[in-house]
Amino acid sequence: MVQFRKDNILDRLVIVNDSSSEVEGEGNRDDHNVGTCIYCPGNEHLTKPAVLVLVQKEGIVRRLSDTEDNRIDDWCVRVVPSSNPLVSISANGTYSNKPFYSEPAYGYHYLLVASREHCRPSYIPAEQWSNVLVALQDRVKWLYMQKGVSYVAVYMDYDASSGWHPNLNIVTFPYMPPLIEQEVESINRYINEAGLCPICNIVSMEDKSPRHLVSIENFTALCPWAPTYPYEFWIVPKRHGIQLLRMTQKEIDELATMLRVMLGGLYTALGDVRFSMIVHASSEKSRKQLHWHIEVHPRLVDKHGLEDGFGVHFLSVSPEYAASKLSVASRRELAKLVGIT
Ligand SMILES: [Zn+2]
Ligand SMILES: [Zn+2]
Ligand SMILES: [Zn+2]
Repeated sequence: MVQFRKDNILDRLVIVNDSSSEVEGEGNRDDHNVGTCIYCPGNEHLTKPAVLVLVQKEGIVRRLSDTEDNRIDDWCVRVVPSSNPLVSISANGTYSNKPFYSEPAYGYHYLLVASREHCRPSYIPAEQWSNVLVALQDRVKWLYMQKGVSYVAVYMDYDASSGWHPNLNIVTFPYMPPLIEQEVESINRYINEAGLCPICNIVSMEDKSPRHLVSIENFTALCPWAPTYPYEFWIVPKRHGIQLLRMTQKEIDELATMLRVMLGGLYTALGDVRFSMIVHASSEKSRKQLHWHIEVHPRLVDKHGLEDGFGVHFLSVSPEYAASKLSVASRRELAKLVGIT
């Protein structure tokens, strides 16, 4: 059984999937076959056929896909159906109303394998991030054309504690997830009241602030004014018009540089810390705007009763101090890549 439920009071969205109760989430699936990593080159037959495979030869990237009988082994990026899906296109079951709201958790769940090797995400070169972003755009576009898909959520959960292929989860929902809904509502209210987008506003106001990290032509990185996690940072397109799905190759390459620079900077500043990297973008099926951005949440501390019980976040590191450490490290990474600071 895989169900969406909403709690009795707050409408908080919950996925109940008791068919995956023996598995702890998605991410590192190196333990499926003891001693065998199903994502390593040569083991392509151990996953379901990849729906998208990028193969890079002589500077040209080709988009291919596996078949049941033929697995492509010279890939640089693979997108495979998750072996432990959080949602399912074969989800069925009953619908029920409040106070016991439930519905089948219909959706797609893919894993984008971003590296042939087991490595830290900070190790991925900018060129490979470009390939990852091309594959991501391709798959997200396809998903938005499917029935029953109103939102495509993209995120990475990184934990250094075991051997790992950097990967992105791509999970669809039949409606906007609650936090996206909140951001969209809040941004659109601000646009209606103030006549400008709050994220565009932040980009220009934070440009020379103590929370600014690093900027390149079309993207900037900053520590937010009131973060939820110590050392949290965001990567934000400077122009409101840039859409994740409509990024040009130049913008993709710039974002790839930014990911390399910022994840490299995070590693240099804090070491091999756990983090989540989350894409917050508008739904292609909604006219409401969300100036998209990437949020990186380092998991340095466990959340406790104040956060869980009252929604109040406590930070022992100010975003200004966090920015002073992250900006030095990330600017050094940028200097190594493009020779400027
Ligand atoms: Zn592996
Ligand atoms: Zn904007
Ligand atoms: Zn956000």
